[in-house]
Amino acid sequence: MDFDWSEAQRALHERMRALGEEVSRLPPEGRFARLAAEGALGLPIPADRGGGGFDLCGTAYAYEALGATLDDAGVLLAAGAHLFGVVLPLDKVGTPAQRAEWVPRLASGRAIATIAATERRAGSDVASIETTVVRCASGLRVRGSKCYVTNADRSDLFLTLASDAGGQGVTALLIPKTARGITIGAPLPTAGLAGARLAEVTFDGVEVGEDAVLGRIGGGRTIFQIAMTYERALILAFRLGAMARSLDLAVRFARERRIGGEPIARHQAVSHRIARMKLRLETSRLLLYRTAWQLDRGDRGQVEAALTKWQVAEAGLASAIDAFHLRGGAGFLEPAGLTGAIDDTLGGTVHSGTQDVLASIVARWLGL
Ligand SMILES: Cc1cc2nc3c(=O)[nH]c(=O)nc-3n(C[C@H](O)[C@H](O)[C@H](O)COP(=O)(O)OP(=O)(O)OC[C@H]3O[C@@H](n4cnc5c(N)ncnc54)[C@H](O)[C@@H]3O)c2cc1C
Repeated sequence: MDFDWSEAQRALHERMRALGEEVSRLPPEGRFARLAAEGALGLPIPADRGGGGFDLCGTAYAYEALGATLDDAGVLLAAGAHLFGVVLPLDKVGTPAQRAEWVPRLASGRAIATIAATERRAGSDVASIETTVVRCASGLRVRGSKCYVTNADRSDLFLTLASDAGGQGVTALLIPKTARGITIGAPLPTAGLAGARLAEVTFDGVEVGEDAVLGRIGGGRTIFQIAMTYERALILAFRLGAMARSLDLAVRFARERRIGGEPIARHQAVSHRIARMKLRLETSRLLLYRTAWQLDRGDRGQVEAALTKWQVAEAGLASAIDAFHLRGGAGFLEPAGLTGAIDDTLGGTVHSGTQDVLASIVARWLGL
């Protein structure tokens, strides 16, 4: 077992740290495009298809670096939703024509994609989605409405799930933004993660050819599972960097803040709180990189991915709350950004499968 990084992975990590610093100085609306221009949206895609040619471990390490220096969880989530939720699965299971049409543009960031699966009455349970796909003269016609779609107004391509009226189950479809009948709502007001730009997307009788089907008709749940495995394994890699940054700040604050002539770090309650932040960070790191390593090897990784997202999201939230408590009243003031950091971590416990849904996957795997 080798826990070391290669020269190339280390160099990418450093480049992404510097990029994160640079991007954090940009106005929020310019950040996503800058990440795209620097190749961050296609790191694990082979170079001959427009990507960086890195493995998933190296990609996760790069996103950890971005999370360490770029304090914009919404934009990093949006980048991950594009890359891990659509580009990677499309590159793995798309037809040669689908890959040729989309992957080079998506990997280089010239086009953006997102998953549009969740509906008002169907989130955790994708089998009960109400969006329909039916055959028509020109191929397939899609009708329905999706909500909480990350990147909605940035996207050129929607990986959409629709239920086949012919009774063949859920089908995954690649629908370009240019298809007639798509309406993209304004970004929804959210608790944190503003840069993720969640919105509603409506397909009002949108017509696409049969070549828009990803996988096969009725095979959408398998496609969704593949996409969710990559997403759950990797989308919170940036959170490792954010947790490390928050830990450094906590250590510095506990040493510097003096009460009754002594640094508050002398109180065991304080130092242990920070030690627990370190424990959560390292356990999250181990789990995430091991899952990335398994996926790099070609393992299915479904349960490991569920464990990873569950752990990292929970650790991120718990440590954001600890960082807040450590500051006392000052943490409640807006300039500290600590309440905003809690909001940002809350979303991680819901997207890509709620903590309950992930626990159910693990429980089922245990035979429960
Ligand atoms: C920041 C963010 C980004 C998102 N981005 C996207 C996106 O890009 N594309 C997209 O399609 N969706 C996206 N979503 C939607 C997200 O995937 C859903 O919100 C999530 O899957 C939960 O679905 P729901 O909101 O309908 O909740 P529900 O499924 O209604 O769940 C309600 C409650 O019931 C529990 N529950 C439901 N089913 C089970 C079960 N089987 N076992 C145990 N407990 C259960 C849940 O844990 C939860 O507590 C995003 C959400 C957030 C917060």
